[in-house]
Formats: sequence, structure tokens, C-alpha cells
Amino acid sequence: MVRESEIRTNEVAVDAPAATDAGLVFIGRIRTPWTSRLETPRQGRVDGPVCRLEIFDPWVPALQGIELYSSLEVIYWLHMSRRDLVLQSPKNDGAVRGTFSLRTPVRPNPLGTSMVKLVDVEGATVLVRGLDCLDGTPLVDLKPDRCQFTPLAPPQKGDYEVGE
Ligand code: SAM
Repeated sequence: MVRESEIRTNEVAVDAPAATDAGLVFIGRIRTPWTSRLETPRQGRVDGPVCRLEIFDPWVPALQGIELYSSLEVIYWLHMSRRDLVLQSPKNDGAVRGTFSLRTPVRPNPLGTSMVKLVDVEGATVLVRGLDCLDGTPLVDLKPDRCQFTPLAPPQKGDYEVGE
């Protein structure tokens, strides 16, 4: 069940320490069709709607080469989430689990990640399918799919042999 910011039966909130500045910079903004958490998919689907990653200056040149990859990992900041729950009840039925055993957006540092399909690059905008976040969600980072990025060379004879 999708939550707004309520605390459910048996959930536990803590006095979270004040945020420290880790030097995070948002590199862009995500444009999606969803304006309410209640209608946003729980996880993105590669056959979902095309969403737009609008990259801010001065980071646009960092997109160079991204078109070489069909899959990207998108990292974003789920900015509307509360950040103080340690036990959560995903089904709102009184049964709780620890935050770190869930992919809930409610976490101390509300980072979300999605593997998306690259549709196109139009200047400073990257079009993708597979997202699950609200319109206007801040973008933290973009990386090529780790499986497509420079696979390790297969071991060569002698690489690991000792004593020859
Ligand atoms: N795919 C990411 C992950 O696994 O890390 C996020 C998954 S999270 C379950 C997705 C849900 O977060 C959406 O269904 C919506 O309810 C909520 N959400 C989306 N964008 C948000 C935002 N900007 N702030 C707070 N909650 C958001």
C-alpha cells in the first residue's frame, strides 16, 4: 500500500540525527506523468511511459557516450519521503519489517534506483522507460548498466597460476 507520510500500526519512528551535508548535487530533474504517490508505480517497467531526464548545466557534456548503452541505472532522490522510520508496515496490516529489508522510499537517505531503457538523447534531455517516481524528482546520477559496461576480460592462462 502506498503511503503519504502517515505512521501505521506498529511502525516505529526515531529522532533522526540532523542531516549533514554530504556535498550532494542534483544533476537534473526527472519529468514523469505522475503527480501523486498514490498513482506512481511501485517499480518501473520497461514498457512503461517515456520519462524525461532533464540534465542541468554544467553537467550536460557528461552525457557524451551515453547513447552507446541501451540500459542505464538512474539514481534519484525521493524528496517527498519522510526519513525517520526504522520499522515499517508495507501492507498497513500491523506486521512490520526493518527499513533496510525493504525497497520503500521511506529511508534515512531516500535514494531510489531504477534500471531503465534508453529511448533517445535530445540535447540535454535523456528519454527513458522504466521509472517509478513523481514528476519533478531530483536526479542524483546516471550510470551505464553494469552488465554492459566494460565486462571483465576472461581470465588468461597464467593469470592466477603461482609457482611457474
Ligand atoms: N525503484 C526505486 C527503488 O527500488 O529504489 C524506488 C522504489 S519506491 C517503492 C517507488 C515509490 O516511491 C513510488 O511508488 C511512490 O509511491 C514513491 N515515490 C516516487 N517518487 C517519490 C518522491 N519523489 N518522493 C517520495 N516518494 C516517491
